[in-house]
This record gives sequence, C-alpha cells and structure tokens, in this order.
Amino acid sequence: MTNDAWGRVRETLAKRIGKNNYTSWIEPLRLSGLSEGVARFEVPTTFFGDWVSRNFSDHILTLLNAEGHEVGRTEFVVPSRPIEAAKPVRAAAKPAPRARVDEELPGATLDARFTFDSFVVGKPNELAHAAARRVAEGGPVTFNPLFLYGGVGLGKTHLMHAIAHELQARQPHLRVLYLSAEQFMYRFVQALRDKQIMDFKEIFRSVDVLMVDDVQFIAGKDSTQEEFFHTFNALVDQNKQIVISADRAPGEIKDLEDRIKSRMQCGLVVDLHPTDYELRLGILQQKAEYYRNQYKGLAISGGVLEFLAHRITTNVRVLEGALTRLFAFASLVGREITLELAQDCLADILRASDRKLTIEEIQRKVSEHYNIRLSDMIGPKRLRNIARPRQVAMYLAKQLTPRSLPEIGRRFGGRDHTTIIHGVRKIEELMTTDSQLSDDLQLLRRLLQA
Ligand code: ADP
Ligand code: MG
Repeated sequence: MTNDAWGRVRETLAKRIGKNNYTSWIEPLRLSGLSEGVARFEVPTTFFGDWVSRNFSDHILTLLNAEGHEVGRTEFVVPSRPIEAAKPVRAAAKPAPRARVDEELPGATLDARFTFDSFVVGKPNELAHAAARRVAEGGPVTFNPLFLYGGVGLGKTHLMHAIAHELQARQPHLRVLYLSAEQFMYRFVQALRDKQIMDFKEIFRSVDVLMVDDVQFIAGKDSTQEEFFHTFNALVDQNKQIVISADRAPGEIKDLEDRIKSRMQCGLVVDLHPTDYELRLGILQQKAEYYRNQYKGLAISGGVLEFLAHRITTNVRVLEGALTRLFAFASLVGREITLELAQDCLADILRASDRKLTIEEIQRKVSEHYNIRLSDMIGPKRLRNIARPRQVAMYLAKQLTPRSLPEIGRRFGGRDHTTIIHGVRKIEELMTTDSQLSDDLQLLRRLLQA
C-alpha cells in the first residue's frame, strides 16, 4: 500500500522536477519506512541523502501528505549493504561537493531545515534555545554536557541539528559528530563484531563536539552504556563539548547507570516544556509563510491558524503535518484554505487531539508514581504519604481538565469542593519551596500530556 503511494508520488515528482533530476535523485531512493511522522529512505551515500534532503524533501513531504501519510520530516540512511538498484549519479546533474569536515565521521545526516532561523522561540523553549545558541557559538566550554530533555516533538532534534549547522558554518575546522544513541550502539556493536573497537574508540575520542540524540535508548544496554561512559569521560577530560538529548531528565531514566546519571547532571540540564498556544501559533505562522511562497496564490482565511493552534496541542510534528496536508490538499483542489476546509481535511487529526484527559487517568498515574493504591487515592485515609499524592492529583485534575471543583470532589470519593480547593492551594504553596514536589509535578504533567 505504502509502495503504491510512493509510486504515485514518484510519478508526480517526475513531472514536477524534470526527467534529469528525477533519474539522478529520486529513482535511486528506497522508501524504507513511514512512521511517527518520518519518511525514511535508503540512499547510496551520505552526500546523496544531504542533497535530496536539501532540494527535494519538501516536494516529497507535500506529496506524501497529499497521499494521506502524515509525515513532517525525511530521513536518509545509508544501509550497511550497498543498494543494488542504486544508479550512479549522472555527471550532468552532479553538484559541486560541499566541503564536509565530518566526511569520515560516522554521524547521521543533518536535516537542512533544522536551523536556528527556522526555530520559533517561545516561553516553553527559550532556555533550551539560549543554551543551544551558546554551545553553537563554539567558544570555551562553560557547561558540559548540555543535556536537553522533553517530550516527543518539542524540538530537541531540531536544536541539536541547528547547533551542528551553526558550528560547521562558523568553525569549519571543528569535527562535529551528531548521531542518535541508537546509531551509537549500532556502530559500537559493529565495531565489536568486526574487531575494530580501537578504531571506534579513536574516532569517537577525536571529535571536538559530540552530540547524542535520544540517549534514553541505551538505558539497560550494558556494554553500550559502558562504552558511552568512557567516551563521555574521555571527551570531558579533553574539554570537548558534549550535547545530549533524552525524553526525560537524567535522574528519571530507568536502567541508566548511576554514574552516567550523575555525570549528566554535572552539566547544564534544560527541559523543553510542552508548547503553549502562542508558540504553536508562531510555528504555524512561520510554516504558513513558507508554504504561501511555495504555493503561490494560495489564500488562507483569517482564523484558520488560530483554530489549529488551539485544537492541536499534542506535539509540533503533528501540527506541522496538519499544515502540510492542508496546503497540499488546498492546492490540489484549488480552493482557499477556510475553516471548513481545515475541519474537513483534518477531521482525523482533530478527532485524535480531542481526546480529553480524564480525572481517572490522572489518579492512576499519580498513584503509580507515588506507589500507592488507587483505592487509597480515593478513599478516606489521611496519612501524609497518601494525602499528599491525593492533593497532587486534585491539583492536576484542576489544572489539566475542564472539570469544576464539585465534579472533581465527586471523583475523589465524594469529597466536598472546599476540600479540593484546600488541596489545590496546598500544592501551589508547596510547589514554590519543595523542589522534589515541583519536579514530580513536571514529570507527571509531561506523562499525562504525552
Ligand atoms: P524531538 O526531537 O524533541 O522529538 P523534533 O526536533 O524532531 O522533536 O521536532 C519535531 C518537529 O517539530 C520538527 O519538524 C521540528 O522542526 C518542529 N519543531 C519543534 N519545535 C519547533 C520550534 N520551536 N520551531 C519550529 N519548529 C519546531
Ligand atoms: Mg528527536
């Protein structure tokens, strides 16, 4: 099915970008996956992937979205085996190779669109952005590592790529290596297998800047963690900058060795908070601007972006996918983008985002977190170790659901609304003085809104 869609996308591409471009750049692509908003392709070389990413990614994404695949990003991977069908790039279309400092580094391809310019800064991400900017200046290392964490689709990868782009532009001599923790593991296992572990160590210890994305992936993978720890220490000792990302704070990653956790906490740990309305609107406006240039003459009525920013609160990737699909659809049918069109075309996304958080879900998560029974959460016990989590759940129910105080009271075993007010106030008060509690709240909020 996916292959049919890709077949149709290829046909349209052939018409849009011309025969030469098509044979040189699109034909050799192998679609290897379409999931989590990412279209993955196998390519013959890193350079090839870079080129396609820079020049044709937007076309490909637009067309895939028009086929009903919600993708916001492309990824190009060089498989360990050569692709048989890959045709040599034709001389006529061959661009001048860019000077790449990391030619021989085993890093991942950078997405050309993930730059600081295209990153919209708002309250939820301003700290992470400022820290990333600082690292990208490439001055003396002031904090090591920079540890960025936050939920899915909040811009961690975007910021890391932006750092790499900026460093390469400002200081081309620096050896900047960006890769996912998964790729780190893969390289490591491969090196073990091929008995090239010394080479592996040498490469990783010779970089100036190491960036490892989604480090939670190596938790529980013992020998990879061990190797990562040594690489990490060797680089820190040489005063080389390290940037790490994860989906949660170092201390919250289960099965990550304690010595690694504490090493991570030695640097600057910053989190990306869930987006707020203003940030979402900002991102949509920036994207819409881009699309308006792409699809000349396509009009978008007032209020549509506001509507989307208000309704799609899950993550930025979904938000982007929605807009991409909307523009592709409107351009296909040649209509103005109105509120009705958006509601029609995005019905499934809107429905999915409509899922309301329930008080029961909150109670369950909070009980799990504090290791108490769900029945105690609702029951009459007044012991501190039960009453406090109960108040946390009350607070979150007030914050994260539209339910009224009496309604919340009813779900907490028929308590009076004044009890709920008291609980909410208590937590608000403690939050400012008790840092453990405020960490707990942040984590719970993130888990619940994921
Ligand atoms: P993460 O790595 O945190 O899961 P990504 O960095 O992959 O998230 O971001 C998901 C998508 O959302 C990307 O296409 C990215 O460009 C976009 N995005 C996220 N935050 C922002 C932002 N503040 N401004 C512009 N685009 C953003
Ligand atoms: Mg990421």
